[in-house]
Amino acid sequence: MNYYEIPKVALHRHLELSIRHSTIRELAPSIGFNNLTDQSFADHFLITEPMKDLGSVLNKFLDTQKLLSTEEIIERISYEACEDAYNEGVRVLELRYAPTFLVQGHNLTFEQAHLAAVRGVKRAEHDFNMAVGLVCIIQRILPVKEAESVTDFAIEHKDTFVGLDLADNEDGFDSKPFSSFFKRAKDSGLGITVHAGEADLPNAPRYIMDAIEHLGADRIGHGVQCYRDQKVVDYLIEHKIPLELCPTSNWLTGAIKDPDGHPFKKLMDQGVMTTINSDDPGIFNIDLSHEYKLLHTKYGLNQDDFVKCNQYAFDTCFIAADKKAKVWNK
Ligand SMILES: [Zn+2]
Repeated sequence: MNYYEIPKVALHRHLELSIRHSTIRELAPSIGFNNLTDQSFADHFLITEPMKDLGSVLNKFLDTQKLLSTEEIIERISYEACEDAYNEGVRVLELRYAPTFLVQGHNLTFEQAHLAAVRGVKRAEHDFNMAVGLVCIIQRILPVKEAESVTDFAIEHKDTFVGLDLADNEDGFDSKPFSSFFKRAKDSGLGITVHAGEADLPNAPRYIMDAIEHLGADRIGHGVQCYRDQKVVDYLIEHKIPLELCPTSNWLTGAIKDPDGHPFKKLMDQGVMTTINSDDPGIFNIDLSHEYKLLHTKYGLNQDDFVKCNQYAFDTCFIAADKKAKVWNK
């Protein structure tokens, strides 16, 4: 099977962590990393072995974030993220980023950063036959006040955002305080996706239900821990709520500890709307085709399964129906 040739819909991909390695190397001297060897490059910018928990993974993203210091760089990495996705067979792409994370420590407003990302995405849509939508992320680890300003920002820019997401470490950071923000976003017409049930925490399946009940999630980012509670699995099936699954990410973050134990196929066979995603391809040193290969060779998914997963992703993608249909020829 040529994994690159499969036409793909990618729903879960973080803009800030999809940076091309050649671009990281080019920008690295600007933050004091000169003459990076392969080893020091990997030490600072890559995660290729399982980390001890999600918190330590999130910390490792900070060097990469330091690189994103100007509008030009943000426009460039946005364009390149789309181009790389296109070369992996992606025709419909949702790219997500957190305005608070993107501008942190840089002399940039949300507005400047966002318009730069929009310029990069629009240029890519012009150059490649693809439809791209940006999803705005609220960082659950920040004070609720900041979440409110990000919500306002997303709603003010709903012509250039397709959805709102809640991300970061779930351990100790409940969904409920964010419910009024997500209600407003949903009422404004934005799609809602929530990182929930990602890490292997005692109440992880419950967090998925919280995201649905309190935040109105249309889709769940990861949600992989649902396999531990059949009632949650049944709910996802009955209410047709898709999971944005990212197998390699789950392995590297320690969400799934057994390298052969990802529940993707089991969930799909039961009728869960499973979609295939790469999460942070740059940092994880993978691309989306790598995930297809993994699912094919290790978990036995076949061509028909891939068609089905992409149809689930296409149907539940937040990009406007006419826009996504134009690039998705059956
Ligand atoms: Zn994610």
